[in-house]
Amino acid sequence: DKIARQRDREFNEFRERIKNTEQFKVEASVFDDATFAALYKLVQDDYIVAFGGPISTGKEANVYTALGAEDTEVAVKVYRINASDFTDMRGYLDGDPRFQGIGSDKKKVVLAWVRKEFANLNRARQAGVLVPEPIAVERNVLVMEYLGTDEGRGKRLSEVNLENPETAYEVVREYMRRLHGAGLVHGDLSEYNLIVHGDEIYVIDLGQAVTVHHPNAEEFLDRDCENVAAFFGRQGHDVTADELKAYILDQ
Ligand code: ATP
Ligand code: MN
Repeated sequence: DKIARQRDREFNEFRERIKNTEQFKVEASVFDDATFAALYKLVQDDYIVAFGGPISTGKEANVYTALGAEDTEVAVKVYRINASDFTDMRGYLDGDPRFQGIGSDKKKVVLAWVRKEFANLNRARQAGVLVPEPIAVERNVLVMEYLGTDEGRGKRLSEVNLENPETAYEVVREYMRRLHGAGLVHGDLSEYNLIVHGDEIYVIDLGQAVTVHHPNAEEFLDRDCENVAAFFGRQGHDVTADELKAYILDQ
């Protein structure tokens, strides 16, 4: 009918406009219609007012800046369903009581993954860990607080010269302890997923984080501890993965 045709026309205009936006067009050319529909919905719901440029093109997701509600800048993480290595993702969803019965349909796995990232961000926040505030999730798209300034995205720990590695270590160690206390293991923690914003360190990229009940939770925790201890060791603050793990588990 008429209303549906009007809606289709508006959506097509939106898609073409996005595809032709200078900063967006390279990666956006690979987005499928359902992804454009998700972005369109986020615009209609006022979570996104205007798209900015790309921050990162990762293995599974692209991250963009955008203008959000009330003149705030937001980060928009778009998972590419076709690029996603979903057999890898399955391993993180298996054994998570929050995501039982998802099956192995690739699209469903990715959609569950995005909702998991949103839920994990909230859980981490409630536990007192600084993470980007999750704002909205729509299909394979996550909108969250932007960490950075007009000058650019907040730097990863891997990109900064830590003045005081010991203090930074104590902060990260406390985050890991609080996450664990809230029943979560990050699972991909390293200097690449720790961001400096203002005077604080933030944890990002919680999509793969699992609950402590997950069959591989301890293995993931050990790996996180090794990554973090190795990084701070290179920064001149000698710590072992074992000490770190003991601190985290000593609640
Ligand atoms: P990778 O495969 O490179 O780890 P990813 O797909 O797992 O990427 P993230 O780690 O969540 O995605 O984000 C990729 C990069 O985008 C981060 O290293 C960071 O620099 C930037 N980024 C992500 N989220 C935000 C945010 N909320 N604010 C500012 N920058 C962000
Ligand atoms: Mn990452």
